[in-house]
Formats: sequence, structure tokens, C-alpha cells
Amino acid sequence: MVLAQLGGTITRAIQQMSNATIIDEKVLNECLNEINRALLNADVQFQLVRNMQNNIKRIVNIEDLAAGHNKRRIIQQAIFNELCNMLDPGKPAFTPKKGKTSIIMFVGLQGSGKTTTCTKYAYYHQKKGWKPALVCADTFRAGAFDQLKQNATKAKIPFYGSYTESDPVKIAVEGVETFKKENCDLIIVDTSGRHKQEAALFEEMRQVSEATKPDLIVFVMDSSIGQAAFDQAQAFKQSVPVGAVIVTKMDGHAKGGGALSAVAATKSPVIFIGTGEHMDEFEVFDVKPFVSRLLGMGDWSGFMDKIHEVVPKDQQPELLQKLSEGNFTLRIMYEQFQHILKMGPIGQVFSMLPGFSSSELMPKGQEKESQAKIKRYMTMMDSMTNEGKSCKLDSSNPKIMNDSRIMRIARGSGRHVREVMEMLEEYKRLAKIWSKMKGLKIPTRGDMNMR
Ligand code: GDP
Repeated sequence: MVLAQLGGTITRAIQQMSNATIIDEKVLNECLNEINRALLNADVQFQLVRNMQNNIKRIVNIEDLAAGHNKRRIIQQAIFNELCNMLDPGKPAFTPKKGKTSIIMFVGLQGSGKTTTCTKYAYYHQKKGWKPALVCADTFRAGAFDQLKQNATKAKIPFYGSYTESDPVKIAVEGVETFKKENCDLIIVDTSGRHKQEAALFEEMRQVSEATKPDLIVFVMDSSIGQAAFDQAQAFKQSVPVGAVIVTKMDGHAKGGGALSAVAATKSPVIFIGTGEHMDEFEVFDVKPFVSRLLGMGDWSGFMDKIHEVVPKDQQPELLQKLSEGNFTLRIMYEQFQHILKMGPIGQVFSMLPGFSSSELMPKGQEKESQAKIKRYMTMMDSMTNEGKSCKLDSSNPKIMNDSRIMRIARGSGRHVREVMEMLEEYKRLAKIWSKMKGLKIPTRGDMNMR
């Protein structure tokens, strides 16, 4: 995701500025100009970028910087706050309640990922025990109903649509009524994809909205839409009361800055992001952890939540202690693999730690493969002696994994020597990442709440 590059550029600009001996207006301006360029490159709307620059200049007191306070932290915090403000319209989106019927209507440009997102949204709630249903009110695009039907069937979600009826308002109303009677708590209405200029389709969208009276209208936006995002989002908002945004295709090469523009144009928060074509490649969007990760500040609360969720309580202090010591043995790798298999995609977990860029994490789209690989590595490690697992495989102890030991492991686990070597390489790679944690102060809950 190119947004990660944006984070990297911003962090570097702040670093460069804080390296300067004297911080005056000129140095601060250079830093802010660099950040502006990065934001514009990421397709954030020009006006938003200018506002952000002005706000930071107003907030940051040059005298404070000169007086030897932690400059990096002051600027980073100001940028953090401004990016959060950009992404946070100040009022939360309507939140449906389990057990109570809510109607959610999805709108967006054709090809934005709207139909896929409807199913992802339904599936996400179904996994949490909700009773969702899908209504296809897209009579404009041939094959739209088939696509929704196919997705819904795969996820075992009830659906409603018609091959013959051409009036989307009629289908939407019938679908909503049908599922209300079935006591579904989430009725999701998919509408025809639109283009800004298609006045007739916009009118149709307005009519569907008036007839079904949705509790929430979600604007689905492809993250690669770029600078056009602001105008497109605004056009939708002017026709129907958009209340939330979902940004799709955040896994691709999109610059992603359009998301910030869409929030500004619709004054609605991003509630989820789509990170792949599969049903479960869908993440809840939280502003602060997102910006924090973007700026390489880590998402401690997310990370700690994950640790609390999967690591047994009595093992948590020890794990955190080991993290701050930075020593990584094969035994720790084994234990972490056990946790990671429970925690989910490695990339997601590590990206919550400060100082980690996504490029050094598990590449997106390869997580399923990685899980199989982890299981394979664990089989090999199972056949290692206790002595082997506890050793720290680094330059101070390079001979411990000699050829005969590697052959023994391969034989014992029924694996090829090449695979054992590969496992040891992976160990070295992770040890390098782990060593970055050395001396890191893991904040307490109180510190985390300060952000
Ligand atoms: P619609 O015309 O807006 O209903 O768009 P579709 O739901 O048909 O999606 C268009 C294409 O985008 C399809 O090939 C989807 O698989 C793909 N797509 C949707 N969401 C995502 C996403 O988050 N990531 C990626 N990589 N592809 C997506």
C-alpha cells in the first residue's frame, strides 16, 4: 500500500528536521513542505493539505522547539492530530444493533467494489452471530444479480433480486419487506454503480433511498480513484445523505490519500477498508491506530489487545519481557509461531508495532501460504533437541547449527535439508526484526489512553 510510503516520507521529514541544530521557521517550513509534497503525491486533495499545513503552523510554537523540548515528538504529535482530524468528521456513523432491524444502503461508482463489499459487510456481521440479508437493487448492470447471488450463496447469506423486474425501487422495497418479516437484523441494499455525470442513475438512487428509508447509506470508494475522490464523493453526498465511507482495494498499489478526501467531502467516517478480493479481507477502520501505524508510531493498544486475546495470561509478562530484551531464540520463535497461528495474519500483528514498515512484513496476499509454512517449520522444530531450540543463532554462536545437526532435523521431521535451511533463514530474518524491540518501553494502559 502506497500509504505506507507516505508514512515513511513523513517520518523521514520529521527526523531530518529534528536533526537540525537550530529549529527556526525556515527549517519547520522545509519539513512541512516535504510533508505536503508527500500528501499530494498520495492524492490527498490540495485544499486539505493546505489547511493541514496552516493548522500545524498555528499549533506548533517555534519557541518551544528552540527551547530544546522533544521537537520530534511535538511535530509528530501535531501531524498525528491533524491527520486524525482529517479522517475524523467528528460524529460517528450510525451503528446497527444486533437483534434490531437496520437497513443499510450501499452506493458508489461502478467497479468500486460495491457488490463485493456488500457481501463482505454481511459476512463480517454473520460471523459475529447476526442475521444479515442482501437485496440486489441493481437492474442497470447485466449480471449484477448473478454476482450478488453467487457471493451470497457462497457465504450462506439470504438474498433477494429479480431477473425480470426492471424497477430497482420496487425490488428494493420488496426485498426489504421480505427480510423484515424474516426478522433479519441487517438488510443490505446494493444499488447500481454510478458515474458522477449519470443524472438518471443518481435520481434512481435517490428514489431507492426515499422508498427504503435506510438507517445508513454507505459510500463505497476505490482507493485508487486519486484526486477525483473529493468531487465524486461530494456528488453522491449531494444526492443522498451518505453517513459512512468504505474504502476498497487498500491492498493494491493505490495511493489511498483519496480516502481522506472522501471523508472531508461527505463529512462521514471511514468504517471499514477492503484489503483483498476475498470475503474476509475486510477490516474495521479506526482512525487513531491507522494514523499511528501510518506514521510508524505503532498501535500499542491493538497489539496489546491481540496479546491479551491469544497469549495465556500467565505467559504475558514473560513475553513482553522477552520482547524488550530483544533476544530471539529458536524456542521463542516456536512459541511465537504458536501464538501467531492463533493471532491471524503476521503482517497485521507486526504492523501494530512501532517502527515497522509493511515492506519488511509478510507480503499481502501470502498469508495463507505463510500459515502453511509456519506449520511446516514447527514440525521441523519439533524434531530439534532442546539444546538446539534454546540456542541463540546469531554471530556470537554461528556453529551451533552445523551440518550434522541440520541433517538430523531434516531426517527427524521427514523434510528436505533445503527446507531446514530455509527455516533457519526465516529465523534470522525474524531475529533481526525482534532485535529492534530491544530497550523498547512498552507503555502501560494509562499511556495508551493519552493519545
Ligand atoms: P461494483 O461494480 O462496485 O459492484 O464492483 P464489484 O464488487 O463487482 O468489484 C469490482 C472488482 O473489484 C472485482 O473484481 C472485485 O473482486 C474487486 N474488489 C472489490 N473489493 C476489493 C478489494 O478490497 N481489494 C481488491 N484487490 N479487489 C477488490
